Amino acid sequence: MEKLFQDHVTELKARGMINGDHVRFAELADRAAEELYVGEIDAYMKRELNVKAQFDVLKKYGLLGIHVPKQYSGMGGDAIALSLLFERLGQVGMGVVTGLDVQTCLTEAILTRWANEDQKKKYLVPEAKGERFMSFCLTEPGEGSDPSSLQTTFEEKDGGFVINGEKYLITNGSIANAFIVFCRNKEKGISAIIVDKDEHVEKEAEIEEKLGLFTSDTTLLKFDNAFAPKENLLGNFGDGLKLAYTGLLTGRLGIAAGCVGVAEDCLNAAVSRSKERIQFGKEIGKHQLVQHRISVVEQQLGIASGSVERAAYWKKRYDDDPQDLELRKAADHNVTLAKVIATNAAGLAADNAIQLFGGSGYSILTAVGRHYIDVRASRIYEGSNDVLELKLASDLLGKGFEAYK
Ligand SMILES: Cc1cc2nc3c(=O)[nH]c(=O)nc-3n(C[C@H](O)[C@H](O)[C@H](O)COP(=O)(O)OP(=O)(O)OC[C@H]3O[C@@H](n4cnc5c(N)ncnc54)[C@H](O)[C@@H]3O)c2cc1C
Repeated sequence: MEKLFQDHVTELKARGMINGDHVRFAELADRAAEELYVGEIDAYMKRELNVKAQFDVLKKYGLLGIHVPKQYSGMGGDAIALSLLFERLGQVGMGVVTGLDVQTCLTEAILTRWANEDQKKKYLVPEAKGERFMSFCLTEPGEGSDPSSLQTTFEEKDGGFVINGEKYLITNGSIANAFIVFCRNKEKGISAIIVDKDEHVEKEAEIEEKLGLFTSDTTLLKFDNAFAPKENLLGNFGDGLKLAYTGLLTGRLGIAAGCVGVAEDCLNAAVSRSKERIQFGKEIGKHQLVQHRISVVEQQLGIASGSVERAAYWKKRYDDDPQDLELRKAADHNVTLAKVIATNAAGLAADNAIQLFGGSGYSILTAVGRHYIDVRASRIYEGSNDVLELKLASDLLGKGFEAYK
């Protein structure tokens, strides 16, 4: 196992925070990450989308269904297993983390919690097996942080729904076989409807001009009179934002855990570089300011990792008893906290690690350069950190203090 990840797993085990099953998940995650690494870097250099290749490897290890119950062809892993997987994959890069997060966290979490048995058979089982892919379609060109203002519509017609609108920045939009689309209707409110891919779902653009995350697929989709049969409504009419929240709660944990992996990889790189690079007749690691930067990376890793461990604990407790509102509050607050802390920490870790590489670090040829660019998006997607910070404050201040609304 990769050394820092192994140390973390060993330490969690010694403190009784994880069991033998978690260790086995961690071993699988490590093997998948090893196998993913070369292809991922190669694709990054060529700026090639790599999602299918990433998913082939993850599928081989059963990891596309890590958080899906066994009766639906998943591995039945809990929130702690999920966070270990994302931590290890974060070392490879946020490109893998972003695509997997949409598959295993956003869409599978929604289906696991809210789909009926027929929907689970048709959509969740093939997703968990890695036979089909789904996208999470919330954001629009005119709406992001405030999903209550989304404009995509559905009309009831011919025993189903006709959907019209555009969805922006949709991860895995090119490869998805089906889409969870959040859309509104005057009478029925914002609802979540599964739309199968056909000629009425058009990829208007591949967002190629992104700053980074080159191996991850980001698209602009147009739903042009797309039809979904009435049995594709998820939950009840008007439940859309509640369902989106279920996905985002799991998704934010995955992203935060991925950021722990980013910080680990930055620490590895910072330490090796500081021992190898000689300037002024000695290893740069012997200069005090260089040691300060290594220490900063280590500190960021520490706070990111601690926050994710706590978030995973509360998320697991809530998953075990989803009717308990106090557990929901604890999971929500701690996952939000971890998302903000870990994404900021990984950004700072990458920034400090790059400095130790000097000019050569300012390049996608280095892992720290790739992490620096890629991890920036994590402070924006799945809830902008600015909005989430306000949410954290209002959790503490109480009702009437929701400044973000
Ligand atoms: C690489 C990538 C992948 C993505 N994948 C998906 C996906 O698969 N599915 C999907 O639906 N979306 C996806 N998104 C979209 C993402 O979730 C949105 O970009 C995000 O929610 C922010 O929305 P916005 O970009 O419209 O920013 P806006 O909502 O316009 O906000 C701009 C900025 O204003 C500030 N702001 C806004 N409102 C407030 C407030 N109330 N208080 C304080 N500050 C505020 C924040 O700093 C925010 O960052 C992806 C985005 C990226 C970059």
